[in-house]
Amino acid sequence: MKFNVKLVVVFSIPFLFAEYVKAENEEWTLTPLGAPGTLSVPKEFPKKPHLSDQPPQRPDGLVLFDTDCTASVVVRSSVKKVRLLAEEIRWHLAEMTGHEVLLLDAPPSNGAPFIEVGTDDVPSQTAILKIEGNKVTVSGDGSGVSHAATYLLESLGIRYLWPGKSGKVIPKKTRVVLQKISLNDPPQFKIRDLRIPVPEQIRSKETALPFLGIDIPTFTKRYREAQVDRAGNRTFYQWHGFNDFGVIDSNKPSLQRTITGGHYFGDYYAKFKESHPEWFALQPWGTRENKYKRPRLCLSNEKLIHEIIRDRVAEMKAHPTAYAVSICLPDGDRDAPCMCPKCRKLDPINAPVIDFSYYNPERTTKKYVSLSDRMLWFSNRIAEEFVQECPDKKLKVFAYADYVNPPVRLRPHPALIIFNVEGELNNPETIGREVASVAGWNSFGNEIIWRPNILMALKAPVPQNFARQLYEEMQLFRENGIIGVCFDCFNGEFINHAFTFYMLGRGLFNRDRLTYEGQVQDWCACFGKASGTMREYLDLIESAFTQTLAKHGGATELIESYPIEKLDKLFARAATEATGDTDSLERIAFLRKGVTAAREFAKLNAVWRSGDWHALFRARDDYKDYVRQTAMENPATFNPIELGMSCPYLRGRPFKK
Ligand SMILES: [Zn+2]
Repeated sequence: MKFNVKLVVVFSIPFLFAEYVKAENEEWTLTPLGAPGTLSVPKEFPKKPHLSDQPPQRPDGLVLFDTDCTASVVVRSSVKKVRLLAEEIRWHLAEMTGHEVLLLDAPPSNGAPFIEVGTDDVPSQTAILKIEGNKVTVSGDGSGVSHAATYLLESLGIRYLWPGKSGKVIPKKTRVVLQKISLNDPPQFKIRDLRIPVPEQIRSKETALPFLGIDIPTFTKRYREAQVDRAGNRTFYQWHGFNDFGVIDSNKPSLQRTITGGHYFGDYYAKFKESHPEWFALQPWGTRENKYKRPRLCLSNEKLIHEIIRDRVAEMKAHPTAYAVSICLPDGDRDAPCMCPKCRKLDPINAPVIDFSYYNPERTTKKYVSLSDRMLWFSNRIAEEFVQECPDKKLKVFAYADYVNPPVRLRPHPALIIFNVEGELNNPETIGREVASVAGWNSFGNEIIWRPNILMALKAPVPQNFARQLYEEMQLFRENGIIGVCFDCFNGEFINHAFTFYMLGRGLFNRDRLTYEGQVQDWCACFGKASGTMREYLDLIESAFTQTLAKHGGATELIESYPIEKLDKLFARAATEATGDTDSLERIAFLRKGVTAAREFAKLNAVWRSGDWHALFRARDDYKDYVRQTAMENPATFNPIELGMSCPYLRGRPFKK
């Protein structure tokens, strides 16, 4: 039919035919065609957090334990999770004092101090902590009750450094005084996600567990046990406020559980490639055939946009309690973004110039403009009609890769919740770029979540400290109204990254407004007389990281200049200093396993560099034995689930000079 039309056209109106052919043979080219934009967005945040190296000095509030005084914990609720949290508080107080601490159904009649744990009808995730007479109230809504419990226990000196028993620091005291503290607020970070690799969610058979010869059910059981210091207590993550929406149930909608979904449109290509091939991105070879599972869309296509609106409105109506649905673009794998003329008209000619990589068929990097305005034009069009059908509901979008820069022409529709993926710690030229990106996107007033892949850092399984920047940026973002964080690429290697992971947790609330330095001092104090040496440990593994990074180094460069023996000497000194202090010694021994991790990795790396295939096979087997034994002994030390994905030395060829 089309052919007939062409024939008619060609013989009657040759000029139009020329136009038609041009449209049929769209050219994939890197020339933006969009009108220039005039938006000017800030590169910095307006507010700086006011932090201190020292915790605030507060007057004493209530004596909980003394020679003539023993506090109890009261819980009137019959809800199991509330009772469990009350029991957890009771257990910590008993461990701390050696007293028998009771869990009561009603306040004691003798006027003794007590801590009452319950829930309250307050805004979502509000934490309530207050002292009135001889009563301390731990309450709130949902996870807010858990936040209040953590703040109470931390105010008494308890710390949770890493998952499991050795990570829980409970100072022994005979006199326990609670300082005048109070809470009555919802958290600024309403979303606190850490994407923890768990055995059940192993992405494919290609992951490391089968490869390492680890039996998945046995590992899963050990993994569960290693998450807590005592059965019934909250996990390390929940203690700090990550992924804690189920700790105490709430009937109030919480952002943490009502925004779901990541990259969307995964099934669109299979569904629509026959009926609507024009909905997919024009490729460098001139067709719209997408070759990979996660397709690229032609974002300027109005009919596609109508289908998406229909689809997303239907999804929202099917899940009325959800706050938002995803229209996050797929990452496209090796298929290229659309460069049809209509899409290029959405790219302002004055948008920031970026390194633009695509495959045709080899990977090519050229210069093009940021695709943020194009992404926003598409997302705004969906949002305009979506809110007609679903007022008060939102659409989740990513600011990511080629569209991570703030726009220059279009402001985001208010219904867009923006998950900003900027942030990496493996290239000195990109360090800190997330501040400008997040500040720029935040200036429009939309809800912004920081969702970086930054924890990938330098992919060497050795002790590293990259906490400083992460922590300081979290303080800056929280101060300036960013509503959440969502960290991907968390590998669970606590013997290598315990301090960095701990600081992510400390950065979520930081109710005592401590600087990085203040947090370091607080952490080191958990090692008794070895605190000064443990400070040297943190600084040494921080400088190993930053020096490698400054030289554009990666995993190989890090391990080849890694101060293994210096590190080992520090731990030997720390162990001597802590003689007789069994708890500190146990903690030092836990972190000292990182020295072995570094030694084993150094051996493997050296053989990999030698280019000797046979030696490499043997070295790999040795390394696999090491990982298997370490992980099975305590999965919190060296979680191998993600190892196969991040360790090139375990697969492939030896290094070629
Ligand atoms: Zn297009």
